[in-house]
Amino acid sequence: MKFSCQLPTREALQVSEAPVPHSGPSGRLTSCFPLPSVGQVVNIKAKVNRAFNSSMEVGIQVASEDLCSEKQWNVCKALATFVAHREITKVKLKQITPRTEEEKMEHSVAAERRRMRLVYADTIKDLLANCAIQDDLESRDCSHMVPAEKTRVESVELVLPPHANHQGNTFGGQIMAWMENVATIAASRLCRAHPTLKAIEMFHFRGPSQVGDRLVLKAIVNNAFKHSMEVGVCVEAYRQQAETHRRHINSAFMTFVVLDADDQPQLLPWIRPQPGDGERRYREASARKKIRLDRKYIVSCKQTEVPLSVPWDPSNQVRLYTLEDDKFLSFHMEMVVHVDAAQAFLLLSDLRRRPEWDKHYRSVELVQQVDEDDAIYHVTSPALGGHTKPQDFVILASRRKPCDNGDPYVIALRSVTLPTHRETPEYRRGETLCSGFCFWREGDQLTKVSYYNQATPGVLNYVTTNVAGLSSEFYTTFKACEQFLLDNRNDLAPSLQTL
Ligand code: ADP
Repeated sequence: MKFSCQLPTREALQVSEAPVPHSGPSGRLTSCFPLPSVGQVVNIKAKVNRAFNSSMEVGIQVASEDLCSEKQWNVCKALATFVAHREITKVKLKQITPRTEEEKMEHSVAAERRRMRLVYADTIKDLLANCAIQDDLESRDCSHMVPAEKTRVESVELVLPPHANHQGNTFGGQIMAWMENVATIAASRLCRAHPTLKAIEMFHFRGPSQVGDRLVLKAIVNNAFKHSMEVGVCVEAYRQQAETHRRHINSAFMTFVVLDADDQPQLLPWIRPQPGDGERRYREASARKKIRLDRKYIVSCKQTEVPLSVPWDPSNQVRLYTLEDDKFLSFHMEMVVHVDAAQAFLLLSDLRRRPEWDKHYRSVELVQQVDEDDAIYHVTSPALGGHTKPQDFVILASRRKPCDNGDPYVIALRSVTLPTHRETPEYRRGETLCSGFCFWREGDQLTKVSYYNQATPGVLNYVTTNVAGLSSEFYTTFKACEQFLLDNRNDLAPSLQTL
């Protein structure tokens, strides 16, 4: 079996929560400094998250260890897509059965990431149709900008036997290293300092190259934001005997920052793109940044107009790991909070307290307490994007305590229809297919909180219209959630005693 490797893009929206000395978005390959230095140990863990038809997603985690101090820290995470193929026949991979909650989550999210990768070009097109990105360039003072042309770099490498594997194909890592080199030079030409690679996105292995090939690497700064810049790199391969036959074998987008003495990202000069391709790449870089910022760990796909609510009956309670439909935008955010897991679970499972941190919840009324762990609420929320009427939702909230050691606490929410709460002229009825929280106890008073949402067209509209490029509504809301948990960490609810 032969594997060709492709490191895809939207997977890059995976965020690592390791201590990062600078804020900002992350890429497919996300670096969480500090990088290991000579004499320190590097631990690499890789695991197939999910097998599809002939492709599979592999999650890779790199950690470092200092043997003298016993200190360990995360270095970076990556998600790689491998494709299995034999000479003629199509390979059908054996499916993987996830077992732990974490494996189940990765399994589900891998499908979402794949879908997002497949519609990536359309997502970018949709974002570019949004005027916010287009206007950005026109509204800038172009006289104080660095011309992008000044950052252009070209380099040539000859593939020698040490650069290739036993099949004679160039190591992916070797190509990545060459690409990083040219990208770093391009980045330095903009900032006139030593840039630090923060993330790599959209790393595509479009085809193999072999020993004897001449590789031409080209890089240029596509866009410079306030504190980070995107450098695009492409690689073309030429055979020895066929000088004119050019194969485009790789492309990648790398995000660089420039750190000052306190490890804080410095302000960067603006860039003036070349007309034509340059301007297109400039806007596409903004769109990629938008996606990264708004969905640190989000997976997107197209949605349709199908009704999302299901008639309520006590048996259709939500399971969080069944996000298999390919019609919805889904996302997942994660944070570690200094609060007890059971307390966080209780605080967030009572939807009546949600208006305290989520401004999209204006009022919440308990309609029916189905049993101790399941309740139906009527939620109203403010009018959104161009609509005059406020929205309302009828939501079933189910909560489950861990069954086993290591399992998370789970809260799942979904829209239901209730004969007593039909749509009224006063509100536009909104629907949520599936959203919720998982809480993992990471230690005493330390909890990893994950928020998942499989969103509706209404919410998608909200995602794409609210990304101002610098801040994310979702991120802000999630941070408000963290504050709410911290403010109420000692507010021991009576039912907590029984958990
Ligand atoms: P796209 O042009 O759509 O961005 P490509 O795969 O052609 O995609 O190129 C990837 C990136 O490589 C570009 O965004 C650009 O930053 C860089 N690049 C492409 N061609 C050149 C070139 N001739 N000189 C410098 N950099 C280039």
